[in-house]
Amino acid sequence: MLIAKNLTKSYGDKIALQDLSLNIVSGQIVALLGANGAGKSTTLNLLLHFITADSGQVIIDKQPVFGKNKASVQWARQQMAYLPEQVSLYDQFNAIENLHYLAKLSDIKCDQRAIEHGLNQTGLDPCVWHKPLKSYSKGMRQKVGIAFAIIRDAKILLLDEPTSGLDPSAIKEFMANISQLAQQGTAVLMVTHDLDCASALANHIMILKQGQVVDEFSNQDLLPAALKQRYHRAIDGSQTTPLPLETAQCV
Ligand code: ATP
Repeated sequence: MLIAKNLTKSYGDKIALQDLSLNIVSGQIVALLGANGAGKSTTLNLLLHFITADSGQVIIDKQPVFGKNKASVQWARQQMAYLPEQVSLYDQFNAIENLHYLAKLSDIKCDQRAIEHGLNQTGLDPCVWHKPLKSYSKGMRQKVGIAFAIIRDAKILLLDEPTSGLDPSAIKEFMANISQLAQQGTAVLMVTHDLDCASALANHIMILKQGQVVDEFSNQDLLPAALKQRYHRAIDGSQTTPLPLETAQCV
């Protein structure tokens, strides 16, 4: 559904991303991991054509996207829903008004029933649907963002650090929502620092270091501890060993 071939982007002498390739099929959840500055946001920005690649290609649903062609880029963006870490919504509007407004801005025809279906699927309590967003927690705002992806019926969902700042219950609900979307056929790319979430949710893991994929593997029941070990081996060249108990108590 979403293919990237050898995406490369530099800023002056600095290579932000080098030869990144990925292939996410419908229903698959891929987690892109890496330290700060590894190139994760650059990857999302290139896939969304917010920035222009120096080289490489993006293919969506078997169709190459031409970055210099406005219609092609617009079509590509219509296939993707993007959920940034801070979901931008209007604080003075309630959830339903926000979704009507976003649909109008995106030129999507949707009625009240479609909006309620989207909100229902995320598990957002109907009691708050008519309350202004300024009273919402981060997790509730995120659900409105996910509802919009559902309403848009996007084939591809791009998530940027989706669990950052969420409490454990909100993370659990987020994971249930994303699993459900994947089961319904959405291809998901999730940029995250949250190894527990990646381990629980992703079918495939990619680890970026200084703009390059240094490890990539399918996540078949990989326990969080094993993923952490593999991550640190890829990033730091080290193996994490358990701290002695006395040291562990001091830190
Ligand atoms: P984080 O986890 O902190 O969000 P990241 O993995 O998303 O980091 P990127 O934001 O993709 O990393 O940045 C990759 C590299 O490209 C970094 O060295 C960054 O400083 C550099 N970079 C990104 N955007 C620009 C820009 N507009 N101008 C110059 N350098 C940039």
